[in-house]
Amino acid sequence: MKRLHRSSDRMFVQMLTDRLQAEGIDCVVKDENRSSMGEITPIVSWATVWVIESEHYDRAEELLHAITNLPSLDEATWECSQCGEVHEPQFSTCWNCGNDKEAV
Ligand SMILES: [Zn+2]
Repeated sequence: MKRLHRSSDRMFVQMLTDRLQAEGIDCVVKDENRSSMGEITPIVSWATVWVIESEHYDRAEELLHAITNLPSLDEATWECSQCGEVHEPQFSTCWNCGNDKEAV
């Protein structure tokens, strides 16, 4: 078993494991903050994702990179070169001045 990723982002961990399982890669998530004391509330709750079969590890790593390199909505927004208005990626022309996205 090999550790693939460590994150405090539970949404991301969930997305990653869903993706791995969809590819037929067995994985487990371990909670690093599960304390036997039961009293300490961690500020950041870390989770680690482990790939069970070591021969799946390279493929799992590729998938991890594919997911982390996806552009976020913030990065995909574009700024109009004519008026400076910022737009969501789904818009192809500036609503303010009609300038084309491709002209940016
Ligand atoms: Zn504009």
